[in-house]
Amino acid sequence: RIVYVNGEYIPEAEAKVSIFDRGFLMADGVYEVTSVLGGKLIDFAGHAKRLERSLNELDMPAPCTMDELLEIHRQLVEKNDIDEGLVYLQVTRGSDGDRDFVFPDPETTKPTLVLFTQNKPGLADSPAAKKGAKILSVPDIRWHRRDIKTVQLLYPSMAKMMAKKAGCDDAWLVEDGFVTEGSSNNAYIVKGNKIITRELSTDILHGITRAAVLKLAAEAQMEVEERNFTIEEAQQADEAFTTSASAFVMPVVEIDGTQLGDGTPGKTALRLREIYLDEMRKAAV
Ligand code: PLP
Repeated sequence: RIVYVNGEYIPEAEAKVSIFDRGFLMADGVYEVTSVLGGKLIDFAGHAKRLERSLNELDMPAPCTMDELLEIHRQLVEKNDIDEGLVYLQVTRGSDGDRDFVFPDPETTKPTLVLFTQNKPGLADSPAAKKGAKILSVPDIRWHRRDIKTVQLLYPSMAKMMAKKAGCDDAWLVEDGFVTEGSSNNAYIVKGNKIITRELSTDILHGITRAAVLKLAAEAQMEVEERNFTIEEAQQADEAFTTSASAFVMPVVEIDGTQLGDGTPGKTALRLREIYLDEMRKAAV
């Protein structure tokens, strides 16, 4: 693979970042994942906008302009011949060559910018989406700025491991009795013609796929209600699903051992997946 590190396109084996980098020592970094379909980027503008917001919230300087970022994405897709897959981007605060809780001087310390691609043939025509996901609920013990897309992913990883150990595919996180979101996706239930998902706040990541799917759902005359829901309500819903840039719309067929409907992907989730993929392919850059 050819990867990008601070201005250079190089083979992955040659890529180097300082051991003092605050991303490595303190998870002082933010990231984005953009999917690639037909060699083109899905909703790059949405990801670039959220990246700017994440950087702002953490007083982290931008490593370059968003136009330059788009060009780097395109170059990597081309150099690695990606038809379907992902581009991972990470910006960390870098390092001034020592470990300190105090942020280094932004005038003299440059952020570290790293990008790499992941080749994923069959991302859109996914067997997992045809089967649907089994969910395990776990407590949400993450920090309270989940709207910032930081690289602090240890607990989401642990949650996913708990789900795997229980024979499930993914975890939904629960706080004060209500579902916040999935380990790496936003969570939804469907009742009749109504799609229900938690409202935006600092409790959840403001999903780029969430924004697109809710807009497309409204355009398709589906009703959208942004409010909290419990695991019990989800277990009694007609359908459930998750959204993320890497899995698009993923139907959920089981929650904590309770089968939803007939245990196969729901029609609303499958329809939204189709609409999302169609529309986003058309708008891809
Ligand atoms: N929520 C969390 C915690 C995530 O990690 C992600 C994606 O990584 C999402 C939601 C979905 O966001 P997006 O649709 O922008 O990929």
